[in-house]
Amino acid sequence: MAAPHTANDRHRVVVIGSGFGGLFGTKALRRSDVGVTMLAKTTHHLFQPLLYQVATGILSEGEIAPPTREVLSAQQNAQVLLGEVTAIDLEKRVVTSHVLSRETETPYDSLIVAAGAGQSYFGNDEFAEFAPGMKSIDDALELRGRIFGAFEMAELGANRGENVDHLLTFVVVGAGPTGVEMAGQIAELAHRTLKRDFRAINTRTARVVLLDAAPQVLPPFGAKLGAKTKHELEKLGVEVLLGAMVTDVDERGIVVKYKDGRVERIDTVTKIWAAGVQASPLSRTLAEQTGAPLDRAGRIGVNPDLTLPGHPEVFVVGDMIALDNLPGVAQVAIQGAKYAAKEIDGRIKGRPPQKPFKYFDKGSMATISRFRAVAMVGRFRLTGVIAWLMWLAVHLFYITGFKNRVTAVLHWFISFLGRGRSERTATEQQIFARNALALLRHGASDLVSSPGVYDAAEAVLETSRRAELEARALEEARLTDEGKRGVPVDEDSASDADAGQRV
Ligand SMILES: Cc1cc2nc3c(=O)[nH]c(=O)nc-3n(C[C@H](O)[C@H](O)[C@H](O)COP(=O)(O)OP(=O)(O)OC[C@H]3O[C@@H](n4cnc5c(N)ncnc54)[C@H](O)[C@@H]3O)c2cc1C
Repeated sequence: MAAPHTANDRHRVVVIGSGFGGLFGTKALRRSDVGVTMLAKTTHHLFQPLLYQVATGILSEGEIAPPTREVLSAQQNAQVLLGEVTAIDLEKRVVTSHVLSRETETPYDSLIVAAGAGQSYFGNDEFAEFAPGMKSIDDALELRGRIFGAFEMAELGANRGENVDHLLTFVVVGAGPTGVEMAGQIAELAHRTLKRDFRAINTRTARVVLLDAAPQVLPPFGAKLGAKTKHELEKLGVEVLLGAMVTDVDERGIVVKYKDGRVERIDTVTKIWAAGVQASPLSRTLAEQTGAPLDRAGRIGVNPDLTLPGHPEVFVVGDMIALDNLPGVAQVAIQGAKYAAKEIDGRIKGRPPQKPFKYFDKGSMATISRFRAVAMVGRFRLTGVIAWLMWLAVHLFYITGFKNRVTAVLHWFISFLGRGRSERTATEQQIFARNALALLRHGASDLVSSPGVYDAAEAVLETSRRAELEARALEEARLTDEGKRGVPVDEDSASDADAGQRV
């Protein structure tokens, strides 16, 4: 049982994760007499369903990832702490987290674990180097850089008379909602948005391939909507290859093996991995301490009230759990987190336990392109513009924050009614930083000093750098004040001034 609440010592709830489960769980506790600490490895809440729009230049990252601290600023009983949780001690009731080699221990009376899921490469993690996934803002910005960068490199190559087919071929792996949305958007980019922007290449000749080992597109949507989606994608110019399993990925291409044994190599620089998920490794930590089972995707089996066997004070929600074949969707996380928060509040107030958690399915939808989507709501199956308008309304409703909703609508107008994309900026760091960080032994921690370590030599260097900057600023101000800008100077005085600046 959770530690009893006393007047002096507020019941401490720790929430792991700032995604759908973490944020909605924390918010649901706003009126409870508890102190909530939200621990998350990013400073933002991420609206994952719109990541593909960041990757394809429609929305900015800020619109789908507001700072959690700002979202919770009015909730006085909630504190937000940055850190990647590396250990949970169920016996001592302590969560350990790290950020840049700084360790934090956070004790709890009740715990909500909502750490979500990451990309799965089905045991071929080396594919990640050349085929980034679509799980985070970093992923979306990297993909944006890679997609727009491929068109730039193709223009350069074409100017030199080279074959640029591999640069103008885009392969999306995984024909679930994310893969369908990515393929549809890349096709729209190539055929509509970019068609007038290049001189040496014709972007409309770009090849967009969506492939999956499964025999149909969007399996959870059923055969009919799957076939409709495939047809719509093909009308957009997307090649849909089914029964195609990826067996190798390298810098310049991807190898697929078909069901009939045929093997094909597709020359492509831009590969996007939208297949498979793997629950957060924290589920393994929890399973080891409780004996709870893990399924093939690493999801943990929980009790019908979302608690862990033998630990009624620990709730696990969202993408991390395996319960009654629940899908990995936002509503499962939101409803589970609200259920857990209500149970914690009820225990403090002495209410009897709730009935087992029951998921209310509000429906599923996926966009194919502008004005085209598919949706399932109860027994209804919708397609085309009506489904797309529903998709628009639902996503607008769930985007966090009024200002984000306003700017998202504006960007949607620009992209869907016009042909522009407001967020095409991409930098070299976006494309290469992930792989560069992976080369470091401890990632970003290798780039900063350890906590408490004071480097005297560095401090001396800083003093002389400061003096240099101050002298340069004084010289700049003197030139302006004495009206000496644009006045010809003789060689001697110029080198004197230079010497002065160097200090
Ligand atoms: C590209 C994409 C598109 C999607 N589209 C849809 C859709 O259209 N509709 C739909 O319903 N669902 C969609 N989903 C699924 C939906 O986003 C998830 O089901 C939902 O986010 C699950 O919520 P969660 O709280 O379990 O995990 P998440 O929302 O993933 O949150 C996990 C949180 O935990 C944090 N975290 C992870 N590990 C640690 C750690 N060790 N320490 C600290 N913090 C940690 C993460 O930073 C994050 O804040 C989509 C998912 C993706 C990736």
